[in-house]
Amino acid sequence: MTLAVGEAATSLPVIEDRHHDHRKYPHGVAFMDGQYLPMSEAKVSVLDWGFLHSDATYDTVHVWDGRFFRLNLHLDRFFKGMEKLRMKLPYSRDEIEKILSTCVALSGHKSAYVEMICTRGGSPTFSRDPRQAENRFIAFAVPFGSVANKEQLERGLHIAISDTVRISPRSIDPAIKNYHWLDLVKGLFDAYDAGAETALIVDTNDNIAEGAGFNVFTVKDGILKTPGYSVLPGITRQSVFDLCTELHLSASAGDVNRDQLKAADEVFITSTAGGIMPVTKIDDAVIGNGKVGPVTRQLTDLYWKKHADPAWSTQIAYR
Ligand code: PLP
Repeated sequence: MTLAVGEAATSLPVIEDRHHDHRKYPHGVAFMDGQYLPMSEAKVSVLDWGFLHSDATYDTVHVWDGRFFRLNLHLDRFFKGMEKLRMKLPYSRDEIEKILSTCVALSGHKSAYVEMICTRGGSPTFSRDPRQAENRFIAFAVPFGSVANKEQLERGLHIAISDTVRISPRSIDPAIKNYHWLDLVKGLFDAYDAGAETALIVDTNDNIAEGAGFNVFTVKDGILKTPGYSVLPGITRQSVFDLCTELHLSASAGDVNRDQLKAADEVFITSTAGGIMPVTKIDDAVIGNGKVGPVTRQLTDLYWKKHADPAWSTQIAYR
């Protein structure tokens, strides 16, 4: 059953919200092929190159207390990624923003994880030339999820450093948010085998890169550092830079090696899925005094306060 029948894919569908009872969509709402659908009905063709070749880009923005957080930065990154991949959609930026907020409003969720995806699609004539493909837009809003659970947020995560190398930026531009995750997933299995909860993997020079859906920061003598090479420039990472400016803390991007990571006073990871999350153990090394540190706490508090600030967030019109 669809929530609304779409018009032609080039124009926004008329939204016919027949189900004012939002509790009907606890698993969220998706938009694809001009229609809003319950999550369970949003299905992609197995012939889509997004599925067959990971030929896709995407972005994820979150909603907290009924407000998008830094939506403009996520839309900027999404559109830049599509441009670099030479993908085109029949929707304008304003229309995509409207689709995303409609997914959230129809779902009824006040905190949500909202994904926008552009896949290469496929060619109607089965041509192997990517220029002939009809690109496809998919969006969905599902309940908010976090990399770290409540207990891990209180005591800090235990991370293992895997020897797995993140795909080279010469192969895939990491600024294009992508689904090339086989290295990250291998890192996770390495970490589980080592008894840790999640993983960081390394770049081609054996410096620390990033983890499965997150960036990492160190704090040493009050100065913050995050890897600058072979990482997705995360929006939460950018938020940390912005918060540091406000708090008069020094923060920069550059090489971080394994020893520097383990010798830090504090370590935390950053992701749209959970925000700023503390790390208190890396391999066998206890970080600082083994407790969540004061800089991590200060940044986390300010990060969550910004969720109500109109300069950082946008109200969603629930109907
Ligand atoms: N690195 C990778 C590989 C990611 O997939 C993500 C987010 O999913 C991040 C870092 C964190 O980025 P953001 O803060 O924009 O969520």
